[in-house]
Amino acid sequence: MPEIDGVALRWRVCGPPERMLAAELVLSWYEVQARHPGRLRPCGNAECRLFHLDRSRANTARWCSMKTCGNRLKARRHQERARHRPTS
Ligand SMILES: [Zn+2]
Repeated sequence: MPEIDGVALRWRVCGPPERMLAAELVLSWYEVQARHPGRLRPCGNAECRLFHLDRSRANTARWCSMKTCGNRLKARRHQERARHRPTS
């Protein structure tokens, strides 16, 4: 239910306990979107189901993690280039 504290409109979540986590997740997602517009994106790895919050200055981060998804896709692109490279 909505609450106004004189400064901002907030939502107080009330309902069956088994649904509270989902409701709070949706509200948290909305809050992140509002605070950091365009910064919450799905990972650039199509096989990854994670999202990432881009904290880079240029807003160009593509991966949930460079150590996992970023390196994995860079290695895959390198292997594909090597496979198509003509052998002499
Ligand atoms: Zn990922």
